[in-house]
Amino acid sequence: MKIVESPHEAYASIDAWRQEGLTVGLVPTMGALHAGHFSLVERSLSECDVTVASIFVNPAQFAPHEDLDKYPRTLEADLAGLAERGVELVFVPPTDSLYPPGFSTYVAPPAVASSLEGAFRPDHFRGVATIVLKLMHVLPAHVAYFGQKDFQQLAVIRAMVEDLNVPIRVVGCPTVREKDGLAMSSRNRYLSPSERASALGLSKALQCVRDSVAAGRAAVPELEADMQLILEQHVDQIQYAVIVDQQTLEPLLELSERPAVALIAAKVGSTRLIDNCLLTLP
Ligand code: AMP
Repeated sequence: MKIVESPHEAYASIDAWRQEGLTVGLVPTMGALHAGHFSLVERSLSECDVTVASIFVNPAQFAPHEDLDKYPRTLEADLAGLAERGVELVFVPPTDSLYPPGFSTYVAPPAVASSLEGAFRPDHFRGVATIVLKLMHVLPAHVAYFGQKDFQQLAVIRAMVEDLNVPIRVVGCPTVREKDGLAMSSRNRYLSPSERASALGLSKALQCVRDSVAAGRAAVPELEADMQLILEQHVDQIQYAVIVDQQTLEPLLELSERPAVALIAAKVGSTRLIDNCLLTLP
């Protein structure tokens, strides 16, 4: 497995594979890899001739008060996990190779970025859209794999790729969970044992909504109230717990044949967690 720091060298490797007629899959990550990340890697390995991963903790998507400095970094274990699965190249750029002094060009994110995460983390999606577009240029893969765990991020990336005619296919992959339901996240490492128990409130609230919908309940305000109730019993702060349209992320009053998604952001202690589940009427 090649471990490449230089953007030019990474581009040249992928360009060479493309010239040979090989299909290239890309899995962008911030490292501290877990089974969720590896599910994207496995999907790429199964669908593409060559799989490339990137590990880069992107400063542009963290606000000054957020956890950039303490974000978990486990590079050696990450590289071992990627190598043993058969990844061909890992891009691990130094920060100043992507954001050199004088860097000043950012992507204005699409409309779907403005609510929810966008409201609580104002410049977050500007940073995400910028780094993802940069990675798509430096690592010109045919297909890029992202997790539905970050549902709004996936919607932002799909819209950006469409709006800016980026020649890459975006594939969304299902959320991987711990046995008890907690969605895997690099940030779960921050949780103390008691916080880890409280964090289950998110998946419990989503499971309750999913059960209610399966039983035929469709009134969104009632379903949202049920989520609130469960979350209040577990987490320290609820930022949002809503059911919205899967495409536009606009509020809904009643579930219909249009696909919907329940989205939650909440704090357990000082750790901010997000989770979601797709909803379709039976
Ligand atoms: P991150 O390292 O948090 O930026 O995540 C890198 C990619 O892995 C993103 O596309 C995430 O949506 C995806 N991902 C993170 N957690 C999970 C999970 N539990 N299941 C599936 N994909 C995930």
